[in-house]
Amino acid sequence: MNISKASICALLSILVLFTSCKSPEPERTEYVLGTICTINLFNHGTDAIYNEAFDRLKKLESILSANRDDTNLAAINAAAGINPVKAEPETLTILRDALTYSEKTGGMFDPSIGPLVKSWNIGTDYAAIPKPAVLHSAMSLVNYHDIIIDEKNGTVFLARKGMKLDLGAIAKGYAADDIARLLKSHNIKKAIIDLGGNIYAMGEKEPGKNWNIGIRDPETERGEPILSISVNNTSVVTSGIYERFFEVDGKKYHHILDPRTGYPVENELLSVTIVATSSMDADALSTSTFLLGTDKGMALIEKTKNVDAIFINKQKEVRISSGLRGKIKILDDSFILIN
Ligand code: FAD
Ligand code: MG
Repeated sequence: MNISKASICALLSILVLFTSCKSPEPERTEYVLGTICTINLFNHGTDAIYNEAFDRLKKLESILSANRDDTNLAAINAAAGINPVKAEPETLTILRDALTYSEKTGGMFDPSIGPLVKSWNIGTDYAAIPKPAVLHSAMSLVNYHDIIIDEKNGTVFLARKGMKLDLGAIAKGYAADDIARLLKSHNIKKAIIDLGGNIYAMGEKEPGKNWNIGIRDPETERGEPILSISVNNTSVVTSGIYERFFEVDGKKYHHILDPRTGYPVENELLSVTIVATSSMDADALSTSTFLLGTDKGMALIEKTKNVDAIFINKQKEVRISSGLRGKIKILDDSFILIN
């Protein structure tokens, strides 16, 4: 995405000036995983740890990106219908978890969504409504049952030529967990890991005090938060119609695609926020529940342990799962808490 890269470079150059005269480094922001990633280690932020954390993110991108042709994911995609490919441990871990969500959502969440994602190009300068023939051929290639993991040999085989994996709905969550593990190995107890809005709030803000995480209005760009959640040591991940979209004749086309229609999923929702200890699960569930809609999505959350959710719909109604009662503060009174 050229435009966002330009603005991110501006951001980064400000940061370089700012950090060069401060020690320890309060936070660092870089463009990785196709988005703006910020890690804040507060007064434990040394150059060495920030370098290690961002090197790790770059390494994950070099394994998992569907936007480059030199990654493990690209090799698996290129060999679709031809031969199995040795998978990196990270690819296998994420894919296994992704497939559990394909099962739980009846195939709405599908990591083989790649051909559809490529045919829309949402988030790039070439985003456009695909021609029906293109859409149909892409849809025919999306089916998670045709992803074959050989556990013994550690390979992945996509059964049909043209199939493509896309882990955009889950890999940032894995990356946040991975960075949290790395920081813990350095005995860091407090950090905010923000990978393009996929947040991991490690530890407590201060002894006995929670972090307050703001959820912004899904309909305004980078607007004021409409509610805040008070949490500690957990991940908070949002999926919505506002992150990536383009407009044609006043209609917005967002990036969460319905494998049954080939189009962006249409329901009553503006966004779903998941609160969970595992950021990978929070990421997968934010997309999964968005695809399922409020009723089925909430049912999935209520039967999943240690996971909570906030559903915000187009009527400006906010619904929360039972575990979040008393932890939410509405900051914009045009939104109504329903529970
Ligand atoms: P989420 O709701 O978490 O996920 C939405 C994304 O999931 C869609 O964009 C699509 O990729 C996928 N998806 C859509 N429908 C479905 C479905 N039915 N089932 C499963 N998945 C679905 N973006 C760039 O522009 N340039 C890059 O170079 C780039 N590199 C990346 C490298 C990596 C390793 C990763 C993980 C992502 C990269 N991205 C890149 C993608 C970018 O960061 C996405 O915006 C992001 O992954 C989507 O996350 P989200 O939290 O906004 O939305
Ligand atoms: Mg997600």
